[in-house]
Amino acid sequence: MQIRELPRPRHVPTRVLFGHGAVARLPELLRDLGVPAEDVLFVTGRRSPAKPWLTELLAAHRSSAVLEQPESHPGVATLEELLDAARAHAPSAVVAVGGGSVLDGAKVIALLARSRVGVEAALNGARLPDEALPLVAVPTTSGTGSEVTGTATVWDRVAGRKRSLETPRLFPASAVVDPALTATLPREPLVSAGLDALVQGVEGAWAVRATRASAAYGVRAAAMARAALPIDGRALDGEARRLLALGSLYAGYAIARGGTTACHALSYPLTLRYGVPHGVACALTLGPVLEFNEGVSPEDCLHPEGAAHVRAMLARIRRALGLPATGPAAPALDRLLRALGCAPLAARPEVDVAAVIAEAVTSPRMANNPRAIDERSAATLLAPGAAARPRQRPLDLARG
Ligand SMILES: [Zn+2]
Repeated sequence: MQIRELPRPRHVPTRVLFGHGAVARLPELLRDLGVPAEDVLFVTGRRSPAKPWLTELLAAHRSSAVLEQPESHPGVATLEELLDAARAHAPSAVVAVGGGSVLDGAKVIALLARSRVGVEAALNGARLPDEALPLVAVPTTSGTGSEVTGTATVWDRVAGRKRSLETPRLFPASAVVDPALTATLPREPLVSAGLDALVQGVEGAWAVRATRASAAYGVRAAAMARAALPIDGRALDGEARRLLALGSLYAGYAIARGGTTACHALSYPLTLRYGVPHGVACALTLGPVLEFNEGVSPEDCLHPEGAAHVRAMLARIRRALGLPATGPAAPALDRLLRALGCAPLAARPEVDVAAVIAEAVTSPRMANNPRAIDERSAATLLAPGAAARPRQRPLDLARG
């Protein structure tokens, strides 16, 4: 299959090489960045026999230093340690190979490595360095899109919350998206990452901050992820992996401009309190939030292009997800979750919905939702059985 440099939207500075086997072109990318191979620091997830390609890749770059991230969602203390170790190596560039949290951790390290600013200080608003080390991101899951965004998530377990850094200097210089790297990914992270791509595509499309161009990437991403998700126990073939990797990348393009909204805001407490994998946590509220947004009116619309634009976008999203043009959307999305082996929200009695909402409503992501959402409306939309009840008058979406 062809390896090619993909076109990218104007708001994404990252150069993207895409295709099966693209990872073999890493030395070429480093050369283009003017980085000597022996001065590269690799940041990876845990090495294991299940990832033979990682061993091969590191062997091919024998002279480089390697930092292994010891946990899958590194907290602040772990990142501080990795940052110290990175500074000791004084590399000319960082290559991040792993899932979203490895890429996010490496982005923070590349940003801070040449400065004296620590991770905690950066998260607390310290002035960020003017220049980051060049970073090449090599995602090994298809979902987070972190390889083409200027944000990094840090899971602060001590404070029990998710924190993030956002600056254009966090955009990787280059990304190598090689769908073949996801071949050894177990089913659970594959499903979670695929759902993350789908929800990020949807949210990136309807977000207040989206432009028409970034929203178009979001709609395409949602359709690609929906088509590629491994429903009913199906395994992914090469073409489905390619589609999911591309969908995930396009979702990254969409959120790099639009950002995420209510589903992501609600997902963080679901992950921190109940250990729900990130993508699944985002998907649990997609149906109710989509239906809620369809009730948007000029009075509660936050999107600068107005309620009619939002409704038209929601109609496109419904088509992308294969949902009926009118009527409830949540039951079909719950069926999708079940077909992927995930319990929908209604089948998770342990979840204290009120507590989740209380934590989520203050998130800036809520203000990026196209319809204003407060504690009361959030409680109504997530009330048990809400999806089964008839909603506001069915919308004639074709007219929106
Ligand atoms: Zn996400």
